[in-house]
Parts: sequence; C-alpha cells; structure tokens
Amino acid sequence: MAQVSPNPCHSGSPSPPWTARVLTLFPEMFPGPLGFSLAGQALKKGRWALETVDIRSFASDKHRSVDDAPFGGGPGMVMRPDVLAAAIDATVAATTVGAVPQICLSPRGRLLDQARLKALAAGNGVVLVCGRFEGIDERVIEARGLEELSLGDFVLSGGEPAALALIDAVVRLLPGVVGDPQSLAEDSFERGLLEYPQYTRPQKFEGHTVPDVLLSGHHEKVAAWRLEQAERTTRERRQDMWQRYATAKQKTE
Ligand code: SAH
Repeated sequence: MAQVSPNPCHSGSPSPPWTARVLTLFPEMFPGPLGFSLAGQALKKGRWALETVDIRSFASDKHRSVDDAPFGGGPGMVMRPDVLAAAIDATVAATTVGAVPQICLSPRGRLLDQARLKALAAGNGVVLVCGRFEGIDERVIEARGLEELSLGDFVLSGGEPAALALIDAVVRLLPGVVGDPQSLAEDSFERGLLEYPQYTRPQKFEGHTVPDVLLSGHHEKVAAWRLEQAERTTRERRQDMWQRYATAKQKTE
C-alpha cells in the first residue's frame, strides 16, 4: 500500500507548523541528523514537522521497480516518471496547508542560496523529491513543474543529503528555533558578506592570542573591526559576492 507517513514526533500546535515532505527511496535516512541539536529540539517541540514518503510504495509492477535503463543507452538507471508522479500527486493531495513549493534536488538545478532558503522559511513548507541513480526522468520534472535546486557544483550519490541540508538551513530560520535572533543577523550571507572570524577561550592558544579589540569591551570598536574583517574576507575569498556588495554600498553612500 502506498503511504505518506507523518512523523510521530510532531506534537499538535494551533496552526500546522512548517512541514517538510520528503519523497525518497530511503525514508529511514530521516530525520537522521535533523533529530539532533537545534533542529531535533525544534522538531520535538513541534516548531516544524517532517513527513517521509516512500517512493517505492508507489511502484505498481510486481517487481516494485522504481527505475529503468536510460533510453538512448548509457550507464546507470533512471527513476521512472510514472512512479514518481504518483508519489508526488499523493503527497500534494495529502497536504492540508495549501500550495507549497515542489522541489527536486539536482546538480543541474539553480544554486541554492540564503535568499531562497529565507523565502522557503516564510512559507508553509516544502515537498522535496530526492533523486538516486543517474537521476530522474525529465518528463516528470516538467509535468509537475518541479523547481530544481542544487547544493553546489559537485555530485552526490542521492538527493537525501541535499534534502537534509536544505531542511536544516530552513529550520534554523523559523521563528523561535535559534534562541538569539541577532546571531542569525550576523551570519555569513545575511548582509551580502561572509562572517567575521570568531574567537573564544582560552585567550592564548599555542602561542597565539586573540585580537586586542575583542578584549577592549568597546562595542562600537568591536562592531567596526568585525565589519572590516567581514569585508576583507569577502573581498579576498568571494569576488562575486564582493562585487555585488560594493555596488550596493556605493548606491547607499
Ligand atoms: N547523473 C546526474 C547525477 C545524479 S546523482 C548528473 O550528472 O547530473 C543522483 C541524485 O543525487 C540526483 O538525482 C540528485 O537528487 C542528487 N544530487 C546529486 N548531486 C546533487 C547536488 N549537487 N545538489 C543537489 N542534489 C544532488
């Protein structure tokens, strides 16, 4: 029987929390790392919810096959569009919170960034389709209008680690998940800059001390030093970000 299984950890709250629905051949990979630390505590408190959908339960032939050889030849297997479409349709039909973005994790997708994650966090949830093998039949991506998102210019063996990363990055943006919202405001990418370097105890480590200004207790000087460091790191490491930041800064000056 095809199933859409809710996560038992989700305790009831007045309006449904932000919900990730993950279509996968390996439901037991979830919540995995999302069951720990910040995301895990928030999951237990019902600040977000997780449902896994076992794609294989939508296979209709007697071998329960979910993949087949690529037309045109070549190595590997491709995930079948009919099985995936049935899984997506059942998931969307079971969704009670209205339209949510339907996303397919793929190295061919648009690069995922903090702006897209913020927009996702502002919505009701996501449906995430995890590919395996050589990927997914193009027709189901087109027919269901899936948004293709990539984690970066490298190839994972499956969409699950990408889905875990996407959910983790969204969950920390949900209200009440991170204790001090100021810590989000200073994160890398928030202001179009990488973050400044961080230091903690001990004050002396292998002969290296920490920058004096951080011990000064002078908040304005600390803030100015951190901004200067953030700008320098961004300029040195990420010319693409630096160009955008410098252009935007010039306009406001
Ligand atoms: N043959 C494909 C790679 C398939 S990898 C290609 O060359 O484009 C198998 C699955 O892993 C993909 O369907 C996708 O869901 C996932 N995956 C691999 N790399 C990824 C990445 N960089 N970002 C997001 N998902 C990825």
